[in-house]
Amino acid sequence: MSLKINTSSPEETAEAAKNLISILTGKTVLLNGNLGAGKTTFVKAFAKASGCKEEGSSPTFTLMQRYRGETDILHFDLYRLNHFEELETIGFFETMEENATKFIEWAEKFSLEDELESFVKIDIKNLGGNKRELHIKE
Ligand code: ADP
Ligand code: MG
Repeated sequence: MSLKINTSSPEETAEAAKNLISILTGKTVLLNGNLGAGKTTFVKAFAKASGCKEEGSSPTFTLMQRYRGETDILHFDLYRLNHFEELETIGFFETMEENATKFIEWAEKFSLEDELESFVKIDIKNLGGNKRELHIKE
């Protein structure tokens, strides 16, 4: 599966996330794109549209946000992580066994594509202004 979606606002990216619920629920999704591309915007909109509620997170632990719902959503942001070993310390690989939808920002920092069995990749390109191109590949 490979599809491209162009959006012109955060709301349109939120709409795209909503339209992808049936395709992405229960999967591991690697989100690639520069800072400000819209990765977090996509995940938050996906969670909201799925009816999942943000679970209170400790201010010192922002690497993973859980959203509770019929299928939980686990949202990882590995931006501030520096070493692969830290993934083991935070229990990343145990968590990946859970039955949940997982979104991982900055997976490319740790070559997680080589570590994970199956995943969907979403590349978000900033085309300037509010224009974004989402490329979804399974
Ligand atoms: P990332 O997680 O990739 O660093 P964020 O989702 O945190 O990016 O931020 C994206 C920023 O870009 C937000 O400020 C959002 O309002 C803005 N933005 C502008 N146009 C779009 C668009 N079409 N889709 C998503 N975000 C957009
Ligand atoms: Mg982000």
